[in-house]
Amino acid sequence: MSIQTNTAVSLLEDGWLQVKVPLPYSLKWVNAYLLPDKEGWTIIDPGLRTEEIEAFWISLLAERAIEWQDIKSIVITHHHPDHYGLAGWFQDRTGAKVWMSQVAMDNARRLWDEHETFSDELTEAFIQHGLAEELVGDMSVHMSGFSERVSPHPSNVQLLRLNEEFHMGSTKWVIYGGEGHAPGHLIFYDPVNRRLLCGDQVLPDISPNIGWMPDGDPDPLGSFLKSLQELWHLDVEMVYPGHRDPFPQYRQRVEGLIEHHERRLLKMTELIGEDEKSAFEVCELMFGVRLRSNIHNLRFALAETIAHLVQLEKRGMVKRVEGESSNGKSIIVYRR
Ligand SMILES: [Zn+2]
Ligand SMILES: [Zn+2]
Repeated sequence: MSIQTNTAVSLLEDGWLQVKVPLPYSLKWVNAYLLPDKEGWTIIDPGLRTEEIEAFWISLLAERAIEWQDIKSIVITHHHPDHYGLAGWFQDRTGAKVWMSQVAMDNARRLWDEHETFSDELTEAFIQHGLAEELVGDMSVHMSGFSERVSPHPSNVQLLRLNEEFHMGSTKWVIYGGEGHAPGHLIFYDPVNRRLLCGDQVLPDISPNIGWMPDGDPDPLGSFLKSLQELWHLDVEMVYPGHRDPFPQYRQRVEGLIEHHERRLLKMTELIGEDEKSAFEVCELMFGVRLRSNIHNLRFALAETIAHLVQLEKRGMVKRVEGESSNGKSIIVYRR
């Protein structure tokens, strides 16, 4: 990954900076937004922690003549490593407060702590859903690799609550929640200028991953669809998303995302066909066996497939029953 800070920054209205922070994944970059006001800068979602990304920020801030102590607040939309990973690293250098939701903080600690047990729980749940035996080892290694990319955790966290007002970048924001993609996800709405900083809740071109996880939201897709229906009502002129570029067609995009999932739900019932299938089998039919060579994408695809099957079960369109894997182990399967 090369460090190209000059092409990574766009100057937006009100002196905001959109910084495309590189990511070592197929998503390519995460947007950090830097909002200035008379106190200094607020940085929203600084990115994943790797040596390359640290170097990226060091040169970018130097080029922009932004001193560490000019950064006064670090705001995190949700706990995913590509957004939250550098929160503690930035706090160590700036002394700034980190602002996030209680649920996001709890999830960050549960999933990405050094002594986490989540990797094993997720791998075990995936085996229950038919994950091929030869991929089990890769999945555990992949999952436990994240903790170093989100350390240190921030030590001084200020909690943000829904419906409260929050000041950043000389603007008064109202805090909304977005469910389905990440529990406790926060969205910032500026009703005066009709702007929305929405993290990964509403993305252009790509659909945010809706993944089921053990002991998480039992029906993340149901929560996502409900959340989008509620958020649709906001009057928005410009959306500032966590990935890709800012875009104007807010309601159209919200409707597009709902339709995308409705189509995918139908497709999955078709793929189950007349016999029983595990989530892993449906996943390979839906997304292709080539996912086996990319464990990161496989994890998202399988979690996404389970989320859809859970929602189909809720709608009474499929039944979850006990089945058997090819080597005779008891697993969860679905039939129509
Ligand atoms: Zn995310
Ligand atoms: Zn993201």
